[in-house]
Amino acid sequence: MKIVEAQRICNLPPYLFARIEKLIAAKKEAGVDVISLGIGDPDRPTPVHIIETLVREAYNPANHQYPSSVGMLTYRKAVAQWYQNRFGVELNPETEVVSLLGSKEGIAHISWCYLNPGDTVLVPDPGYPVYSGGAILAGAEPYYLPLKPENGYLIDFKSIPRDVAKRAKIIFVNYPNNPTGAVAGEAFYRELIDFAREYDILVCHDAAYSDVSFDGYKPPSFLQFPGAKEVGIEFHSVSKTYNMTGWRVGWAAGNARVVEALGRLKSNIDSGVFQAIQYAAAAGLTGPQDIVAEQNKVYQERRDILIEGLNSLGWNLEKPKATFYVWAPVPRGYTSDSFAELVLDKAGVVITPGTGYGQNGAGYFRMALTIDKERIKEALERIKNTIGTVTF
Ligand SMILES: *Cc1c(COP(=O)(O)O)cnc(C)c1O
Repeated sequence: MKIVEAQRICNLPPYLFARIEKLIAAKKEAGVDVISLGIGDPDRPTPVHIIETLVREAYNPANHQYPSSVGMLTYRKAVAQWYQNRFGVELNPETEVVSLLGSKEGIAHISWCYLNPGDTVLVPDPGYPVYSGGAILAGAEPYYLPLKPENGYLIDFKSIPRDVAKRAKIIFVNYPNNPTGAVAGEAFYRELIDFAREYDILVCHDAAYSDVSFDGYKPPSFLQFPGAKEVGIEFHSVSKTYNMTGWRVGWAAGNARVVEALGRLKSNIDSGVFQAIQYAAAAGLTGPQDIVAEQNKVYQERRDILIEGLNSLGWNLEKPKATFYVWAPVPRGYTSDSFAELVLDKAGVVITPGTGYGQNGAGYFRMALTIDKERIKEALERIKNTIGTVTF
């Protein structure tokens, strides 16, 4: 029998970390104590009250049956209440919130709702690979919007050609930003909403890191700006805020028509989130929030150690205001890949080459603050012993 994959699978970009992963496996095999700054996945545990809610609800047989594919009203109300408390945003839990199996799932599926084959979708570069992956699966064509340091890694709307804007159907936007750590303020969101209105482009804002922030800064929600609900939705989840990446629960909120379409698509694909998990996520959203501030202090201390350490080796980095990522240029004489390989090979430290997030990530690397500060210090020491001080 001849097995042939569909074109849409063949169109997916190659897995860029494959080579690095082989190198990591080889290093570990050789007994090297590998320090990974590569993965953006919280290392700290889910808060206890959330786990206790899961355990309690897991014992209730009513929760063992198929959930609603759009989410229990209790869960959607908790999301709406959190938006009210955190951002002052009013949401109708019945029509303006849909549960997701993690926001990644909704980000991948929204393209199926709004993109026909051949349609144009605007995707930030560097960016979270799911935006283009989902769009390519739907047969659409990403047009990459370069995020440049001179613009603070914000999308430069004026540089988008008019004919491209005219044919684009969706724009993906992500602040606080993975991988650059950039943040966006009111002026940016107003410009985004004007742009979306002018060209009839659906805004899909990814706010995964709205609650991972430092120095007293509180990132906004896209939905808090006037007109946002008319032009788009926001994807979010409990993953980064409450250390729940493995639980797979998130939401999309905002424009009711879009929320309904996404829910309709999902009702044909999945059967929702285990109800005990929905109750647990709701406990996180409506419970004590001081744990979030506590945790941000931990990331902030790690950030300071990492940034100050890199700067003492010759970098000239500013401290990011949000996300648990540090985005930095590779020293002179290296590419993203050659620098990541060198650091792994000679220092046993894993960093992510910027090219994993798009062509405009070339010349950069990303480090994640999701490991203990002592390990970060050790990684810095090893990098110092490998490359000494650097120039750009
Ligand atoms: C982690 C992350 C997500 C969220 O993932 P889920 O666990 O699926 O909610 C979404 N967007 C970005 C940019 C991320 O880094």
